[in-house]
Amino acid sequence: MDIKNLFGFLKNNKKAEEERCCKKCGKTDKYSVFAENFMVCPQCGTYMRMGAFERIAVTVDEGSFQELYGNFGSTNIIEFPDYDEKLKKAREASGLEEGVVCGTAKIDRINTCIFVMDSNFMMGSMGTVVGEKITRIFEYATEKSLPVVGFTTSGGARMQEGILSLMQMAKVSGAVKRHSDGGNLYVTVLTDPTTGGVTASFAMLGDIIVAEPKALVGFAGARVIEQTTGKTLPQGFQRAEFMQEHGFVDVIEERKNMKGLLSRLLKIHSVGGAA
Ligand SMILES: [Zn+2]
Repeated sequence: MDIKNLFGFLKNNKKAEEERCCKKCGKTDKYSVFAENFMVCPQCGTYMRMGAFERIAVTVDEGSFQELYGNFGSTNIIEFPDYDEKLKKAREASGLEEGVVCGTAKIDRINTCIFVMDSNFMMGSMGTVVGEKITRIFEYATEKSLPVVGFTTSGGARMQEGILSLMQMAKVSGAVKRHSDGGNLYVTVLTDPTTGGVTASFAMLGDIIVAEPKALVGFAGARVIEQTTGKTLPQGFQRAEFMQEHGFVDVIEERKNMKGLLSRLLKIHSVGGAA
C-alpha cells in the first residue's frame, strides 16, 4: 500500500475538493474521501473507475515513475467524421494525450515497466497510438530485461481508425512474444471493463493474469452474444469471478492489496527469487 503517494498526487490536483458520487448507492463526498479508499466506495464497496495516473500513484513507489512516449498523440488518419472533435473532448476529459500511460517505475524497489490504460479517454479504446505506445514499452522492457505490469481497461478497438486499430492487436502481441522469448515476466491486471480487441490480444497474454473483483472481462458484449446464440447466459457471465472459475484469470485481488500482490509476483520472478 502506498497511499501517501496518492495524497501527494492529490495535493497538486484541484480535483481533491470536487464532489464525487457513487453510481451504485448514491454516496456523495469529496473526491479525496474516495481516493483515500482507493476509489472504492466506503459505503457500499463498489469499485469506481480509476484514471491512469491515479492507478500509477497507488501502485508504484513514490517518485519512481518516469513516463515514456507521453507526447504521442493521435491524428485523424482515415478522416473519420467527427474524430478530431472526439479526440479533443477526450483530451479535455482525461487530461491525457492518449488512452494509455507508459513508463518505468519501481514497485517495492523492483524495477519494472508499466502501462496503464485510462477509460476516461474514449473508453480506453485502442487506436494506433495506444498500440504503438504499448508495443514500444514491451520493446524497451525486452532490451533492458525488465518485467512489464499492464493495467487494462478498454471498450475495444477504436472504430474511428478502422483496420489500423485492429492491426494493433497483432503488433502488440508480437512485441509481447519477443519480450516473453527473452525470458521476461508480463503480468496483466484486468480492470473493469476489459473487452473487445484488447481482451482478444495483450490483456490475455500475461504470464500471470490478475483481475479486480467483479471486473467485466469479455470479447463481445453479453447482449450481442445472447442475440446471436439465442441462449440465456449464466449468472455472473463475463465477471472476473466467472472468468477465474473457467480458467481465464489466475487470481482476483482487492485494489488495496494490489501493490502487495504485484510486489510478491515480481520478487518471486526476479533473479534470486523471493527475498
Ligand atoms: Zn456506493
